[in-house]
Amino acid sequence: MIKNILRLPFLSLSVVICSLSTIAAQPDRWQQRIKYNINVTMDVAANRFTGTEKLEYTNNSPDTLSKIYFHLYWNAFQPNSSMDVRSRELGRTRIAEPKGQSDGLDWDARVKDRIGKLIPAEIGYQRVRSIRINGTDQQLKEHETILEVVLNKPILPKSKVHMDVAFEAQVPLQVRRSGRDNKEGIRYSMSQWYPKMVEYDYQGWNANPYIAREFYGVWGDYDVNITIDKNYMVAAGGDLMNANDIGFGYETAGTKAKSSAGITNTWKWQAFNVHDFVWAADPTYKMITRTLKDGPLIRVIYKAVDSVENKWQRMADTAALAYPIMAKTFGAYPYKTYTFIQGGDGGMEYPMATLLKNASVGTAIHEWMHSWYQMMLGTNESLYPWMDEGFTDYSSTRVMATLRDTKTFWYSGAYKGYFNLARSGVEEPASTHSDHFNTNYAYGNAAYSKGAVFIAQLGYIVSDSMRDKILMAYYNQWRFKHPNPNDFIRVAEKMSNMELDWYKEYWINGTKTIDYAIDDINVKGNGAEIKLKRLGKMPMPVDVLLTFKDGSQEMHYIPMSLMYGEKPPENNIARTVHTEWKWPHPDYSFQTTRNISDLRSIEIDPSERLADVNRVNNKLVIPD
Ligand SMILES: [Zn+2]
Repeated sequence: MIKNILRLPFLSLSVVICSLSTIAAQPDRWQQRIKYNINVTMDVAANRFTGTEKLEYTNNSPDTLSKIYFHLYWNAFQPNSSMDVRSRELGRTRIAEPKGQSDGLDWDARVKDRIGKLIPAEIGYQRVRSIRINGTDQQLKEHETILEVVLNKPILPKSKVHMDVAFEAQVPLQVRRSGRDNKEGIRYSMSQWYPKMVEYDYQGWNANPYIAREFYGVWGDYDVNITIDKNYMVAAGGDLMNANDIGFGYETAGTKAKSSAGITNTWKWQAFNVHDFVWAADPTYKMITRTLKDGPLIRVIYKAVDSVENKWQRMADTAALAYPIMAKTFGAYPYKTYTFIQGGDGGMEYPMATLLKNASVGTAIHEWMHSWYQMMLGTNESLYPWMDEGFTDYSSTRVMATLRDTKTFWYSGAYKGYFNLARSGVEEPASTHSDHFNTNYAYGNAAYSKGAVFIAQLGYIVSDSMRDKILMAYYNQWRFKHPNPNDFIRVAEKMSNMELDWYKEYWINGTKTIDYAIDDINVKGNGAEIKLKRLGKMPMPVDVLLTFKDGSQEMHYIPMSLMYGEKPPENNIARTVHTEWKWPHPDYSFQTTRNISDLRSIEIDPSERLADVNRVNNKLVIPD
């Protein structure tokens, strides 16, 4: 049923609504559910807005909830906030390998000490004036970016409550992600802008204060009405319900929007089965679209500047070309629209839309791929950042390489990032909570690079074709269900018929490294004996390619004992499968029937998918 639904997602709005909520109702792991009805009125002179939220919250858990929590992200943009203090602390740490945008210090170059310098008119805030349940005010305790709500009556298991939230906010001068008047001059980048309920799951509340990253939310449906000066064009991750009244290019072809009689427009948006809602607004926005045959309508909304117009056009074209590759390799995108919006400070993903600083094609595809790993699969990015950024980095790099028909080893960037991390002396396990890494450097390389290598290297262990089947099965079984690392590994184990828990334990939960080496070759009978050594602490299966002086080759494959299985042959290359290498043993030897004097070279993992930290000892070339 899920498969059929996913093949027919674009029939009509009502079918989409119904089918997406069917997908969400999975029997095997309960999930909270929410409906937001948000009304805000923006004062574009004061950069403030007031708003109300009507929430319908369904407690599908077996637990009685006596407290609930909300995110108030914008309270981070005040001098001496936790985000400010954390950034300035990281600014005192010099890192060995500064990133391009950095000054050699470990802080985010976009944030630095800027929060500490915000004047009152530039700070951000979100103030909840009241939360009422059945007309009764609830007790509120603000912890900077987290609001604790002590309920006068607990929410019982399998029950639903209606809440009325009244709030006001000031849009911060853009420092990180959201805010007003960013460097490119976009007036409003409105992400993380409303009191957003914290996700409660089988691991409890996920009330992570906002210090830099990351996101996790309750899936639900959004109705968002935005009243703003009528000169502003609004972009959002959702569908505009009153497009024919609003115009700005959203209207059905051939219809003419009525001009608003007052000084404002009210933009009525809807989004279904998403865990967040983003919007942006600017008086100089312009929209281009691309229609896909079997995919969403692509919108690109940007500040009209003649000198970069062709870059946005090219980005829209590339996105249209990329989608069939994305859908074929990683599964279909089920929503009706996707919008690339100029705003924010780099690239930041949200459901059905992204905020982009400029028309960088690589960033655009990366952010859209987050629709798979953050928006549909929705892993808890605080706890498992590598499952979002790593998988997204892997898949978007692969899509770009396919588009560009890259012949070289296209994921070498991720391997390089990981090797640098492994040598840096500051590596922490990728399983570290993303807010609690000691350095941004260790977080970034663990989440993005080591996470991407996790997937690329899985192809080495189970074969690339099996890895692709695993990714598709993972998408089919776990989208809209918040999978954790074990859920992914179980899919991989069931699909490949191999034990793979050891791979997660070593690669994700620790910092042990892989290093295999060619030790020696000896004459053995009429043939040769090849001796290998495991120098690293992490065990892996080993591919060894023998090349002979006559140009012929032999592929040898040594499974590792913890796998209880072997990968299928790859690329139709015949190979010899040897007995398993028992993981505690540092030494292993195997034989070839060919004469030792015929040998030209011996190479461990010619595919270079094994993240061996010392590749110098992987190849032995025998001199004439
Ligand atoms: Zn990303």
